[in-house]
Amino acid sequence: MSDALKDKRASNIDVAGEAIVITHDDSRLLKRDLIERVKELNCLYSISRLMENHDYTLYQILARVVDLIPPAWQYPEVTAARIIINKRRFQTNNFRETLWEQKEAIVVNGKEVGSLEVCYLRKKPPAYEGSFLKEERTLIHVLAERLGSIIEHKNAESSLQSLYRREKKLRKKLQKEMQSRVDFSRKLIHELKTPLTSLMATSQYLSLLEQIQGSELAKAACLVWEGANRLSSRIEELHDVVKGEVGTLKLNLKPTDIVQLLSSMMDETRALAQDHGISISLEVDQSLPAVTADPERLSQVLLNLINNACKYAPEGKRVIIKATRESASTVKIEVRDHGPGIAKDRQRLLFKPGYQVSHGGESPSGLGIGLTLCKMLVNLQGGKIWAESKLGHGSSFFLTLTVASEGKK
Ligand code: ADP
Repeated sequence: MSDALKDKRASNIDVAGEAIVITHDDSRLLKRDLIERVKELNCLYSISRLMENHDYTLYQILARVVDLIPPAWQYPEVTAARIIINKRRFQTNNFRETLWEQKEAIVVNGKEVGSLEVCYLRKKPPAYEGSFLKEERTLIHVLAERLGSIIEHKNAESSLQSLYRREKKLRKKLQKEMQSRVDFSRKLIHELKTPLTSLMATSQYLSLLEQIQGSELAKAACLVWEGANRLSSRIEELHDVVKGEVGTLKLNLKPTDIVQLLSSMMDETRALAQDHGISISLEVDQSLPAVTADPERLSQVLLNLINNACKYAPEGKRVIIKATRESASTVKIEVRDHGPGIAKDRQRLLFKPGYQVSHGGESPSGLGIGLTLCKMLVNLQGGKIWAESKLGHGSSFFLTLTVASEGKK
């Protein structure tokens, strides 16, 4: 409301502060006041609409904003505006510097980055600030603030966009590198496996030859077959780890009878345990429900854990395999040994590729990928795997699996 109207209103309030008599002059002032406020609102509203268009750059927005300013002033026909941001100028076509000017700093993140100027091109009757109204000082202040926050917003938007573009470029590069790594491993595995396959077939054929049965030659052929077979499994493991790392390792999940799987594992591992002079015992709750698993891959995980347990447990000791219901939705399997144990600070590293622990000063054999693959396979079956161990007191490797459907095997 203009000062003139406020004064008029004040003088028309009676002692009780109630009666206001609006004269014809008052209503004219009120109308003019309203028109001015509508012009201001229009200006602010149009700026907000501009901001909704995310395709505009900051400079495109500023070039449009400057034209929205003069219509909000009292004498639009003689009003010109200019925005200066970081030495770049955006101005109305009629802009020139005059004596009748209002100016406000534009501040971004606490730092002055430019200014907003509004000029009258001709002298106008005096008002609150030169020829400008008090409301026009407030408006230029609000507009400068709005411009500051538009610049802040656009700066943040553009740094977010450049971060996104950088991330996209890096992701593409990574995908390309991953793909070339997969291609290389595939080629490498093919190159290694082709001669191995014929080596395995030939050594097996030789070991079964009637003419050399029971001879040293047959034993040697057997050893060649065993070695080639081990090598072949390690190559397969390496291939699986590479596929697991790039997310192309696929499993065949189905409801699996865990009790049956564990008992057939016992038959498979008996010979292995005997070789190490170890006895394996199975403690399993016969009423365990079926779990969601890939039976072949789950057997591979358990075989790996049992193999490690037999490898590190001192001769004559027992390896215990235990399966229990952990919760309504999970079954827990434990492979416990009485081996050397693993220090606490090393336990969390066990599942990292290539990590090996030496026991008794001996340099560890293998590649340190067995447990990495176990973790990948268990995770792909929706479970978790971890180790608990105390140096000198043996280790327990635990894994959990999800119950497939209540009570069904
Ligand atoms: P690799 O693929 O070489 O057989 P793993 O990934 O299976 O290796 O195991 C990683 C390391 O963890 C090994 O170097 C071994 O020393 C240690 N480890 C695994 N299982 C046991 C265990 N049951 N007791 C003690 N150490 C173990």
